[in-house]
Amino acid sequence: PATAAAGDGPVATHCPYCALQCGMDLTPARPGVVDTDAGGRPRLPVTVTPRQFPTNGGGLCQKGWTSASVLRAGDRLTTPLVRGADGELAPATWDDALDLVAGRLAALAAERGPEAVAVFGGGGLTNEKAYALGKFARTVLRTPHIDYNGRFCMSSAAAAGTRAFGVDRGLPFPVTDLAGADVILLLGSNVAETMPPFAAHLAGARAAGGLVVVDPRRSATARLAGGAEGVHLQPVPGTDLVVLLALLHVLLAEGLADRAYLAARTSGSGDVARSVAAWWPERAETVCGVPAEDLRRVARLLAAASPARGGRGAYVLTGRGVEQSTQGTATVTAAINLALALGLPGLPGSGFGCLTGQGNGQGGREHGQKCDQLPGYRRIDDPAAREHVAGVWGVDPGSLPGPGRPAVAMLASLGTAGGPRALLVHGSNLVVSAPDADRVRERLAALDLLVVCDVVPSETARLADVVLPTTQWAEEEGTMTNLEGRVLRRRRAVEAPGEARSELWILAELARRLGAGHVPGDAFPTDPAAVFDELARASAGGPADYSGLSHARLDAHEAAGGPGLYWPCPAGPPGEHPGTPRMFLDGFATPDGRARMVVVDHAGPADDVRPGAPTYLVTGRVLQHYQSGAQTHRVPELERLVPEPYVELHPLLGTRLGVPDGGRARLASARGVVEATARWTDAVRPDTVFMPFHWGGEGSVNRVTSDAVDPVSGMPEFKVCAVSVTPVPA
Ligand code: SF4
Repeated sequence: PATAAAGDGPVATHCPYCALQCGMDLTPARPGVVDTDAGGRPRLPVTVTPRQFPTNGGGLCQKGWTSASVLRAGDRLTTPLVRGADGELAPATWDDALDLVAGRLAALAAERGPEAVAVFGGGGLTNEKAYALGKFARTVLRTPHIDYNGRFCMSSAAAAGTRAFGVDRGLPFPVTDLAGADVILLLGSNVAETMPPFAAHLAGARAAGGLVVVDPRRSATARLAGGAEGVHLQPVPGTDLVVLLALLHVLLAEGLADRAYLAARTSGSGDVARSVAAWWPERAETVCGVPAEDLRRVARLLAAASPARGGRGAYVLTGRGVEQSTQGTATVTAAINLALALGLPGLPGSGFGCLTGQGNGQGGREHGQKCDQLPGYRRIDDPAAREHVAGVWGVDPGSLPGPGRPAVAMLASLGTAGGPRALLVHGSNLVVSAPDADRVRERLAALDLLVVCDVVPSETARLADVVLPTTQWAEEEGTMTNLEGRVLRRRRAVEAPGEARSELWILAELARRLGAGHVPGDAFPTDPAAVFDELARASAGGPADYSGLSHARLDAHEAAGGPGLYWPCPAGPPGEHPGTPRMFLDGFATPDGRARMVVVDHAGPADDVRPGAPTYLVTGRVLQHYQSGAQTHRVPELERLVPEPYVELHPLLGTRLGVPDGGRARLASARGVVEATARWTDAVRPDTVFMPFHWGGEGSVNRVTSDAVDPVSGMPEFKVCAVSVTPVPA
């Protein structure tokens, strides 16, 4: 594999979207051919073909197949934009735009201190960009206020995984291991739509009748578990934790837990066992609505599949549906407790994992974008970690700021007395993707300076004072870390249009202008391979150790037929470390090597149904769109298939409320109002409506979602809130 100039052969890279990071080849158009097709439409600069890779088995979903369209979006940003005195964004030179940003940042910091500036990153940035952004915030700006959109999607799983196992890697095993399991318990994840090639990894469990899907909605994935192929449990929204407590209760009550494993490999099992004693299935049924017999059946199914009882293996997997909750960390902890009671984690062919969503949702959280972490997944309040990373950065450890505020708290503080007055946004569309979106828009409007780096004029970019156009995906070199902790090479196949530049260049230019004398002059290289080498040194000895990796090693490994290398991969000697496909085989990354079981209990969602807001709202994704839709709304084939937001409601509810199929529905919560076209379906419970979150404006469901957060992880409760539903007069 190699970078190809336009006109050369295919370039081996990966999809720009989700964490499955499907393999694809990009064939650049021959020079001179990239103009228009017979219909007068701009020809795409690359042709996408799927490539055999373990996560996708040679397949791609609709998003992957059509991803080249994003490279030539009609409104692609190709020059910096600066808001003028007339209030309009107008083209500017890079020098003018960067001088303006640096000047205003310096003035704000001089007037109000470094905390007057905040940075917001993204889980789609390459590892190199994520690393450089964290370093820029902490060494050049010297602000503690950096966090990223992974706080919205990964933080509860990360908090629970770190607490239990000592380190968090979404799947601590190759995704292909799933094929050999008899049972897979999948909680809150609609993989059949969000990452369709993943569904092939569920085939073994389906054939064994062992796919168990927990989802309040009969999603495309839940339908895979229908009939003889598995079980769909459809709890009341916000009660997944009760399902898990009851499953563990049954295991213990019926003597199905793996006692030898619990004694040898865990701590805290006695307290946890006592804590679930009160969750017998009939009581759980009164809260979660899942029949007690179904709970018993699933617990027995799981136990029979566990190696301790002679089964071929079982997995417990969580997704955003159970994590984006004020009980998110507790719910993932309960899922881990269940997996530990079955004796699964750290056993080949069995385990626990969470399904990361964003393309670099795993790597994005490892290299220093989180408000409480330094590169290598190190805690920012750990003196040894600060000393190590400061040494790599060539700065005084005492100059590094301490922890900042998690995303929701940071956004709430923007523009307030004592809060940040400037925000730099990288690869994130906050006014669509953050909860309580109307308040977020107000906070952004209250800033002295909003700078957005992006590839298209997203809803957030349109609010900015300065917009800086960036390279994307097929226009850049770098690495991504997929949902398995597998480090992959992203490769350049085409040149970026116009004056779009990599964030690495933008950060280097800002660092130079800000005259950060306390940072070495060459602190921000623009060569991604050099940035990776520094990232690897910064991660050395940390929980996510990349120090044995480099672009050159990843390229050589791939050229020899190897599909990426897994962290931890420490530097030798002796020899080259092979990487770690399967973690925890010899013990967990805790001080005593045991997994920690932690007592958790059900408290219910922050925003429960009540008079005036009697209906649950759950949110999610559709196959054709990704995140805020900033990319996929610009792909004609996808936009044609799902052109507008909609709300699913049960025919019984629609009839009762007078909202006809195809009519307009208004959803109102304590935060705001959203309107969308109604679709009747019995896939949702009669007490629940569902709405996808890929749209801004009037159809943005996050105008009504709650910004209540999980107390441990800071993750907002996107997945359940209370609304009133009324018809919109025609
Ligand atoms: Fe891309 Fe994810 Fe679809 Fe694969 S499943 S093609 S990585 S969006």
